[in-house]
Amino acid sequence: MSISLYIHIPFCRRKCLYCDFFSVIYEPRAAASYIDVIMRQIEAIEEDFSTVYIGGGTPSALAPELLARLLKALSPKLRAGAEFTVEANPESLDDERIKLLLGYGVNRLSIGVQSLEDTKLKRLGRIHNARKAAESVILASKRGFSNISIDLIFGVWDEKQDRWKNELDQAVKLPVQHVSCYALTYEKDTPLFKALQNKSITPLDDDIAAAMYETAIDILSLRGFKQYEISNFAREGFECKHNLSYWENNPYIGLGASAVSYVGGVRSRNVAGVEEYVRRFDKGQVLADSSEKLSPERRAKETAAVKIRTRDGIDFAWFKEKTDYDLQELEKRAIPGLLEKGLIRYKKENNTSSGIQLKRKGFLFCDTVSSTLL
Ligand code: SF4
Repeated sequence: MSISLYIHIPFCRRKCLYCDFFSVIYEPRAAASYIDVIMRQIEAIEEDFSTVYIGGGTPSALAPELLARLLKALSPKLRAGAEFTVEANPESLDDERIKLLLGYGVNRLSIGVQSLEDTKLKRLGRIHNARKAAESVILASKRGFSNISIDLIFGVWDEKQDRWKNELDQAVKLPVQHVSCYALTYEKDTPLFKALQNKSITPLDDDIAAAMYETAIDILSLRGFKQYEISNFAREGFECKHNLSYWENNPYIGLGASAVSYVGGVRSRNVAGVEEYVRRFDKGQVLADSSEKLSPERRAKETAAVKIRTRDGIDFAWFKEKTDYDLQELEKRAIPGLLEKGLIRYKKENNTSSGIQLKRKGFLFCDTVSSTLL
């Protein structure tokens, strides 16, 4: 069975206004002790991995020496042909770091572009501008990365369709093989959430945001980026293996503050605090703040709820093999309702139903579909 490794680097140069990921402002000493702990954890792991993903936070915010140490420790843990992804942000992705990443076998780069419009970047509180974002992608490609993903956000207040179209047109001209598009959400305890509460901003109408999402699907697919999951689009063969593994509900180990692990049916989440993480590790204490053993039925339902997000949906035979449950029996209350609402359809093989998958409307209301299956 494929097992994946996720490493959380919770440091950023500045906090973006919409962000509720666990991250703190980069501080060299804290980062050095943190990476020390992560390295000792990596060394203690016996498995090797089919996918490794270093996310954050901003992994490229690490000083080059720290980044090099981390990458070096990971090299022996990669299986042959493993996908090795690192997230980077435009402002910190320089020549030196790109060379390090390539030198240590990183073969997929995920760049937090978020927008190719300066006004929108400012509204989101991003540190880079549009020119820098495009330049960082071009530089990474020129230096040798042939699997680059960019993230884009849409649905910012007052955003206009034609501007969003323009951003997508610019994005597909960049040397990228993968695009992730996310609607802006206003998460609790973020500055944008507060701005929403005190009415200094008005969120975009849901219908306009939905139309923008459909625009992304249309433009990206027209330009050869196939939608393979709700928010993800890739050229043929460049789908993210690490995320596909999550959506198959395969096990993964998460290292770092706030990282989640899912091993042997137990889901646990590490404490969200850099100093606390280091302190607990040094004292030999448990790093997880919460942990839950999932029942076989719960695991099966979670598998359905995540796998339905993918373009291919869920094959009944695959599901039975994976979970030991019959999907139609397990979801006998959910499936008819979702079919009736026009959110899913049966997949057909030789005139018989072989599985279920989202319809176009289901892509718009995927959260409803997932929570109904849970
Ligand atoms: S760079 Fe990413 S992780 Fe850091 S604050 Fe911004 S959105 Fe959050």
